[in-house]
Formats: sequence, structure tokens, C-alpha cells
Amino acid sequence: MTMQGARERTVRTGGVELCVAELGDTAQPTVVLVHGYPDSKEVWSRVAPRLADRFHVVLYDVRGHGRSTAPKPLRGGFTLEKLTDDFLAVADAVSPGRPVHVVGHDWGSVQAWEFATVRRAEGRIASFTSLSGPSLDHFGHWIGRRLKRPTPRRVAQLLGQGAKSWYVYALHTPVLPELAWRGPLGRLWPGILERMEKVPGDGYPTASLPSDAARGAWLYRDNVRSRLTRPRPDAYAHAPVQLITPVGDAFLSERLYDELEHWVPQLTRRTLDARHWVPRSRPEQLASWIREFVTSVEGGRPQGVTATGKYADRFGGQLVLVTGAGSGIGRATAYAFAGAGARVVAVDRDGETAVRTAEMCRLIGAPEAWAEAVDVSDEQGMEKLAAKVAADYGVVDVLVNNAGIGLSGSFLDTTPEDWKKVLDVNLWGVIHGCRLFGRQMAERGQGGYIVNTASAAAFQPSRALPAYSTSKAAVLMLSECLRAELAGRGIGVSAICPGLVNTGIAATARFAGVGAEEEKRRQKRSARLYELRDYPPEKVADAILRAVVRGEAVVPVTPEARGAYLMSRFTPRALRRIARLEPPL
Ligand code: NAD
Repeated sequence: MTMQGARERTVRTGGVELCVAELGDTAQPTVVLVHGYPDSKEVWSRVAPRLADRFHVVLYDVRGHGRSTAPKPLRGGFTLEKLTDDFLAVADAVSPGRPVHVVGHDWGSVQAWEFATVRRAEGRIASFTSLSGPSLDHFGHWIGRRLKRPTPRRVAQLLGQGAKSWYVYALHTPVLPELAWRGPLGRLWPGILERMEKVPGDGYPTASLPSDAARGAWLYRDNVRSRLTRPRPDAYAHAPVQLITPVGDAFLSERLYDELEHWVPQLTRRTLDARHWVPRSRPEQLASWIREFVTSVEGGRPQGVTATGKYADRFGGQLVLVTGAGSGIGRATAYAFAGAGARVVAVDRDGETAVRTAEMCRLIGAPEAWAEAVDVSDEQGMEKLAAKVAADYGVVDVLVNNAGIGLSGSFLDTTPEDWKKVLDVNLWGVIHGCRLFGRQMAERGQGGYIVNTASAAAFQPSRALPAYSTSKAAVLMLSECLRAELAGRGIGVSAICPGLVNTGIAATARFAGVGAEEEKRRQKRSARLYELRDYPPEKVADAILRAVVRGEAVVPVTPEARGAYLMSRFTPRALRRIARLEPPL
């Protein structure tokens, strides 16, 4: 597999020849991508082209991997000192006199921690983005502290990481790993990656995998035991570091990085709902974070990279679209994502309110925010919106189908037109959103998240809200079905079910079967009731962000919604009795 437009050259150093590929304009800041184990530089083939329009992108096969030659003998040829020599030789060749931005995945990150913390590389590194590979020195201290003061929690952390490290012990056995990789494991590996790691099978890994993996075993043997038992005491980073932690990493515990601020004065943390091979599974998100970080370091703002709001590590730089964002829960949700550093698309049928939301999002912390005036019940309007968003802003990472309207009144008083209006907005609006943006997420193949705002009315029957409750029950079931369908594609789905929340909905909800004057009177009274209840939409927004982070399926918000949810499951008869009560309006 060759990367289109890549220029290749050979860098000779320490008795090996390194195969180096370059993309983009050499006058731009240089970003060096270092691959892990078992890999070659082609692991970056989905990331490098996404960076090449803005940066001079450099990749190289680590010694003994891909088209770089191997040291002789192999034993002792892969020490971190020698790998640092290689990196410095590449950096000198591709970016003489100007520090480079390093990005490392897996063992590439383990190596790059060495580069970013040893004296002789000081001044050669402008920034470091670390992905699924700790510093062996930091790791050694992490273990040491837990052995010295073994509280139950610390012992559990040690055992947890110990269990995840099974393959490290295996790679220390002589000969067997080489035989396995050059034999059956080498053949099975692409299938294993596809099944276990959800890495798309698109010509990766390359044909050199068996020999990369067999020789690369020396990375572990030459370094792990010696560093973990005698970690360097002064492994402080001399460049800003961006740490990206995939929360579904089968090989590394998130706890490993708990004390990282001690070693890194300028640390930016990001988390990602993904497995270990992020350069293959989430190239777009990864490239966007690298771009943002490198640009901000070049601009002299290494610490201002992330917004400081809650969940900033998770949503920073992500594209979030919220419908019904001009008021109430939708607006609060747009603000919460903006506070977490997300790029926000605020959609509402009332264009002016959407514009105000977008303006405020920018002030709160969104790097970018846009307003779109669209009626979610309008199929063609939604199709246009989806095409425009994809073309102008990219594929949405988090979609919040929130727009909705209220309708009260008995079933016998509700006309077919009333039904149609409520179902068109509350149900069809959600269907259009899921269908159009969900498909884009699925086709991109890099996961995503859909939140649908249902209601406690979805599981709490009431004689006063037949149409509204039916629409929300449908949204709840749609969310559950979609969650099942999209689970295999890394796309999560949550249904949010609030009780009474103090928003504009009560004042605008329609009442079936009554005249205009009586409707006004009831709207006023119900708005007063919502005001007295005074549950703020910001709390629902917080529950929405939390639901995405935790991947929750059904989220009742407000105490009355949680109570009704429990009753619907354990005492449905009591709930049915309550449903018969005449509403207080
Ligand atoms: P709200 O009236 O304050 O906000 C709703 C927003 O959606 C408004 O800006 C409105 O212009 C917009 N909107 C309405 N129809 C639209 C359409 N067809 N296309 C695009 N935008 C449209 O109400 P809210 O309370 O924030 O409601 C948000 C969601 O929460 C709704 O789905 C509602 O059913 C649900 N919900 C609200 C409560 C509550 O007590 N407020 C309780 C449970 C569920």
C-alpha cells in the first residue's frame, strides 16, 4: 500500500536504512507520525492525507519494520536510545533547524515519550500527541508507587493493568512469538483486527506484517523489563503534550495516566470512545485533534487548546448538531456542548433564535458554531440540511434530535390534523434526523452518537396527553431499535426522558378541543405550573452529555420521571390508576 502523492527517501543512521515518506508542503510545520507494534508506517494511511493540506507530514518505518532494514543482531538493536537516534536522524533530514510535531501510536507513542523527555531531543520537538502508548518510565513509577503503598484500590489498578498486559509477557518468551507471527498468527491477524478492533479491512495491514511483528518483539525484550524496574527519575516532558485516550482500549488502562500532570507541565487530555487502533478506526477525529493542537502550539497557545467545560476532553473539536436549539432544552444542550469545546450546528425552525444560540455558543467556547433555519418535519428541508452540513462542516459526531411540540387534550377531542402536527414534528422529525445523519455516520465508519429527546410521557400514560405521549413512546422505541442496529458500527443511541422542565414548551403547547381563549388560559396556567416546578433545562443538558459519555440507553431526568420509570417497570397498575386522574388545568 503506498500513500498517494507520498515522496519516499532513505535516511541512513546507526547501521540501518530507514524508509521515510513525506506528504505536503515542506515549508509548513512538520508533523512526524510514528507507528506502533505490530505495524508499519501504513497504519497512518487514513490520517496522513487528512493532514497534508496544512502540514508537512512525515512517516517512517521504524527499524526492522516495513521497508526499513533491521539491526544486526536483533537483540539489543531496539533500545529506546537507538530509536531516539533514528528519530533525530529523520528529524534532521526532513526538518533541519526547525522543531517537529511528533504523533505516536502504541509503541510509536512509547518511543516518542522517550524523545519528549530526554535532554538530547530538547528543542527538536515542538509538541507531542500520544495515543495508546505510555512512557515506560512513567509506567515504572506508577507501578512502584502502587507496590510501595498498596491500598485496595491501587492493588486493583495494578491487577487490572496486569491482566491487560498478557501479551507483553508472551512476547518475552524466546522464539515462540516469532514462530507464531511467521506462521498462523500472521495469517489470522487481519481478520482478528477486523473482528476485535473494528478496523476496516482495506488493504491494511501490509504484507510485511509477519516479519514486522516477529522482529518487533525485540522492542519489548530490549526495553520493558529494564525500564519498568529502573525508571528514569527525571522523565519530564520538555514539549506540550496532547494525550488521547481511547476508553475501549483492551491493552491499556485509563488509570495509567492518572498522575501524568506530574510529568507534563503542559498537558491537554482528550478521550475517545474507541478501541486501540484509533489511526485506522477514527482517522477523521484524530486528524482534527492533531490539526487543532499543532495549530495552537504553532500559534503559541499550547494550553488554550481545550475548552475548560465539563467533558471538554471528550467533546472538544467534535461536530454536534442540535435541533430545537433556539429555546429550552435544545439551547441549553447546545451551550453545554459549546462549553466542552465542540463545534455546534444550532437548528431551529425559528432561524433568529438559532442565530442567537450559535452566537452565544461561540462566546461560551465553541471553536465554530453555525445556525440553520429548518423545520424538522420537512423531509426535503432535512435532506438539504444533511447535505449542506456534510459538505460545509463535515460528518456530525453527535446528533441531538430534540425539536418537539406539546399537545394536550383528550383523545376524543384530538383531530386528525392535531395528530398529524404532533407526529410530524415529534416523531417524523426524529426519524428524518436519524435516517439522514445516522446514515452519514454509518458510511463514514468512525462511530458517532445519536440522542433523541423523548419524555417521561413515553412510559407514563395519561388521559390528558394521548397524542404527545404516543409520539414520545414511538421515539423511545425507535431509539431502542436503532441502538440495537447501530451498536455494531460504534454508533450509540440514547433516549432522554425528562419530566417537567421549565422551558417555553408549556406556553406554546396546543390544547385540543377548546377555543382560542380557553387555550390561552390553559397555556398560562400550565406555564405557571412549570415555573413553580422550576427544573432548569441546563440539568437536562448535563444529563444528555453524560448519557453520551456513558452510552446510556434510556435516561429519565427529574425525580418524577425517574419515579414514573420505576413504576412503569415494577408497579404498572398504580401508574395506570394515576393515568385516569383529571389534570389540574
Ligand atoms: P421549547 O419550546 O422551549 O423548545 C423547543 C424548540 O424547538 C423551540 O425553539 C422551537 O422553535 C423548536 N421547534 C419546534 N418545532 C420545530 C420544528 N418543527 N422544527 C425545528 N424546530 C422546532 O421546548 P423544550 O421543553 O425545550 O422541548 C425540547 C424537547 O424536550 C421537546 O422534544 C419536548 O417534547 C421535550 N420535553 C420537554 C419537556 C419539558 O417539560 N419542557 C419534558 C419532556 C420532554
